[in-house]
Amino acid sequence: MTQSILDLHPRDWPQHFVDLGYKKFHGRIAARWVFQRGIYDWQQMTDLPTALREQLLSTPLLDTELVKASHAEDGAHKVLLKLADDSLVEAVCMPGSKGQTICISTQVGCGIQCGFCASGMDGLKRNLTQSEVLQQAFWLRREFGDFHRIVVMGMGEIGHNLDNVLGALDCLIDEAGANFSGRRITVSTVAPKGAIAAIANFGKTVQLAISLHASTDELRQELVPGIHDRTIEQLLDEAEDYFNITGREFTIEYVLLSGVNDSLEQAQQLADLLRNSRCHVNLIPYNHIDELDFHYPDGKTCEAFAQRLKDNSFSVTLRQSMGKDQDAACGQLRRRTIGLDV
Ligand code: SAH
Repeated sequence: MTQSILDLHPRDWPQHFVDLGYKKFHGRIAARWVFQRGIYDWQQMTDLPTALREQLLSTPLLDTELVKASHAEDGAHKVLLKLADDSLVEAVCMPGSKGQTICISTQVGCGIQCGFCASGMDGLKRNLTQSEVLQQAFWLRREFGDFHRIVVMGMGEIGHNLDNVLGALDCLIDEAGANFSGRRITVSTVAPKGAIAAIANFGKTVQLAISLHASTDELRQELVPGIHDRTIEQLLDEAEDYFNITGREFTIEYVLLSGVNDSLEQAQQLADLLRNSRCHVNLIPYNHIDELDFHYPDGKTCEAFAQRLKDNSFSVTLRQSMGKDQDAACGQLRRRTIGLDV
């Protein structure tokens, strides 16, 4: 795959432009157009020399193709992008009280294969490049306007593509890039070995969410099979280090699945397990996937589960699901579109 300029950190653009035969400040100007002003067409960068703009035309900034944009009744939007190798990847934009939140993917497919998630159903195809991670944010901004938050909760596992995803986030957070606040970025991970430590140590602060989903190792290995070499205790130890390094609390994510992990006994087990952790618990409603035989528990069961955690002094949210009518659950749009002539 040919390298895109978006695989370079914006701090390295000045040197890149020197290598192209121009000046360092041309690189700074170009980075400002792209990261701060949201202009992805070289021709529109009117303060760059005409000859340079023409030279750059052979390397378009957005070298992915917008295949489809879909809209849900609740205001969520989704883009499906075709990559240079014809792989498909999706990204979502959701409205909120403070502004829009975008949700971006890290891989084509996923190797973790959580039992209730569509992303891993066809296995892992490949990691996304830094440029492909950034382009999801850029396409969403181009189609739907500015966003206020970023959640890395789309298809794939960041823990298996740390360099490219953290590289992309660095470009967005850095002053030479978009100068976007890391506090408004949440990365979600099942926490394979070393992932939390890498997120804690990458030099910029982002919010951490850990997909736990179970209160025993046995059940977690069943629901999150892709990382069997990892106990919950090891994971929580690494999370404690994250708190010590960053001074920030993390979020525990727990998809409630009827009859699987939603009993009061399991709520109590979870409370006991997290007793010494500096975390908030986010209970996620299961988003139904046709091929799977899981169900979201009724309202009373969810409330009781949440209440038990609150009784144990945890801060808890019971998240509303978005984009239900437009296949917002991870990977569903992609799965439905693969094989179609789009
Ligand atoms: N690999 C990362 C990020 C991708 S999924 C991770 O697992 O954290 C982002 C969140 O959505 C995870 O907590 C995941 O468990 C959850 N999720 C996946 N499929 C879901 C579904 N069908 N319904 C509700 N949540 C789901």
